[in-house]
Amino acid sequence: MLAAQPWAFPALLGVLGLLVGSFLNVVIHRLPIIMTRQWQAECAALAAPDSAAPVVLEPYNLVIPRSRCPHCERLIAAHDNIPVLSYLVLGGRCRHCRAGISLRYPLVEVASAALAGIVAWHFGAGWQGLCAALLTWALLALAMIDAQTQLLPDSITQPFLWLGLLLNSADVFTDLPNALTGAVTGYLLLWSVYWAFKLTTGKEGMGYGDFKLLAMLGAWLGWQALPVILLAASLVGAVVGIALIAFAGHQRNQPLPFGPYLAGAGWIALLWGEQIMDFWLGGGGSL
Ligand SMILES: [Zn+2]
Repeated sequence: MLAAQPWAFPALLGVLGLLVGSFLNVVIHRLPIIMTRQWQAECAALAAPDSAAPVVLEPYNLVIPRSRCPHCERLIAAHDNIPVLSYLVLGGRCRHCRAGISLRYPLVEVASAALAGIVAWHFGAGWQGLCAALLTWALLALAMIDAQTQLLPDSITQPFLWLGLLLNSADVFTDLPNALTGAVTGYLLLWSVYWAFKLTTGKEGMGYGDFKLLAMLGAWLGWQALPVILLAASLVGAVVGIALIAFAGHQRNQPLPFGPYLAGAGWIALLWGEQIMDFWLGGGGSL
């Protein structure tokens, strides 16, 4: 049935993408807070190992507590939490106190839906399309979190690295030897760049999260995708970085997150990596 209607699968994943986007908004907002709380708890435990009464924090995870307006702290009702629609109906303001709601929320939902729809259209109905949508959502969350907090949570990159290897043990995107080589090479490539940069300049150009993200992309797409990802990420990163320094008063020595560019380049390689490589190498492929 899905095969008969070429738009049915993209439409389905687009709608699913709206709902997932709503969840991604929670992940993007809460995961860095959860990580910070964990570090604080660990530091406190290290500082006072003999403390009789360990500090018990209120539970805070992706489900608890329920979402509140950050301004008036009133609970957000389910009917005010419908992706994109609620934002439009409420005119981008809290129902109770009329404080503005960040445009980021509907934008993440629209991006999640649109990117999943594109991926579904590109790969067609099947495992590849579904898995590619899953990777797309992970990359969207990682890019947003890194852009805002300069963190790339292990709790996303690690399971997705394993998932990529697992999927490719069934040849979903590439074969297992390519995927394994991709994961190891991805990590080592950026690890070497990091140390070369640190030893020559004494500065840290990127973080360990970047190595893990490239390892994850290598596990999903195989080592063959790494040159495209690195080149595209560096090019766009350099252009945006120079533009920010020139036009937005960004400090030259203030680090810029590299994760969003890696994630974006990884997504492009997911869809067109092979064509780009063929085009480069003049192997007869065309864009
Ligand atoms: Zn409010």
